Amino acid sequence: MKITRTPLPRLGAFSSDFSRCLDTGEVTNNSTHVRALEEALGRILDVPVLCFNSGQSALTAMMLAADLEGGEVICPSFTFVGTAHAVVMAGGKPVFADIDPITLCLDPDDVERKVTSKTRAILGVDPYGVCWEPPKHWQNGDIPLYIDAAPAFGSTPCLYPLAKRGRACIFSFHQSKPFSTMEGGCVASDDAEFMKRIAQIRVFGQDETGDVHALGMNGKMCEVNALVGLRQLDTWQYRATHRIESALRLRHALRTHVPHIRAFHAPLGQECIWTYQPVFVEPEFGVSRETVLQGLRDRGVMARAYYRPVHHLAMYLDPSVKLPVTERLAASVIALPVYDEMTDAEIQQIVNAFREMQK
Ligand SMILES: *Cc1c(COP(=O)(O)O)cnc(C)c1O
Repeated sequence: MKITRTPLPRLGAFSSDFSRCLDTGEVTNNSTHVRALEEALGRILDVPVLCFNSGQSALTAMMLAADLEGGEVICPSFTFVGTAHAVVMAGGKPVFADIDPITLCLDPDDVERKVTSKTRAILGVDPYGVCWEPPKHWQNGDIPLYIDAAPAFGSTPCLYPLAKRGRACIFSFHQSKPFSTMEGGCVASDDAEFMKRIAQIRVFGQDETGDVHALGMNGKMCEVNALVGLRQLDTWQYRATHRIESALRLRHALRTHVPHIRAFHAPLGQECIWTYQPVFVEPEFGVSRETVLQGLRDRGVMARAYYRPVHHLAMYLDPSVKLPVTERLAASVIALPVYDEMTDAEIQQIVNAFREMQK
């Protein structure tokens, strides 16, 4: 069982459209299908959307537009390293805050402890697609909120619409994510001024006249990726429903049949798309997390020790940073595969793998 299995459309579903792109040479530069995908995504998210060639370039553009001026950005360490990289690439300094064990997302109390006069932004993350729901009173605070919602396209938060939890958020459409354009991503925000800057950053910082006021990049999505995205959207509602149900069945089977493997569930009221299903290996299970991981792989289940805390990676290593919840949970977490349609046999294979190890 592979760690992810996001189905892609058949070539025949978009070959004539793509063939026309090749004939006319309109393969990139914000052409027809990228604009159509942006419109379709905008209708789903209920805010304007700008597509990018990856989630990471969308994230970096969002941080560039945030005007960090060398200041600090509070973000979790319990995330993919891309979160911190985007801050650094935009000239900021990531300051890691701890997570809440109930949500796996930024702990508001620890964020408040880490605010200084140098704080320019708070960058929350939706780990595994679990939505970070910032305290309501932060919406009108002095520090702008941004969200790396890379794995969360398809999730539904409890208190907010998905793309209205801060000034802006980004999504990834990488092949490993539930909704995929192979490579791709987007920035979503209803702040028109901010989106104007994002649009310029996406094309080397150029404005309509070709003049340049700020640093930019080439963040443009290609037409073929947009076509894959549009065809993905045709079946998305159906697939998302089945994916959420698959994760529910997997959690139920683990809870029923495997004591001391704690399957994480999203906070009450949230619907999570589950890019992966995190489980925690409790000490009572009697086998170390590393042995469990190897045991799963030996039995054909590709699982990962994910997330690995960013402040434990060589580039970000800082022994003075203490994040007790992040460190405790990251030491016992395993990210299990979730597919849009998991068969009972696949769920049974995972359950059996755990049970065999426990003997
Ligand atoms: C996937 C992911 C990214 C990077 O997205 P790409 O589309 O692969 O560039 C960044 N942050 C988080 C939290 C992610 O899960």
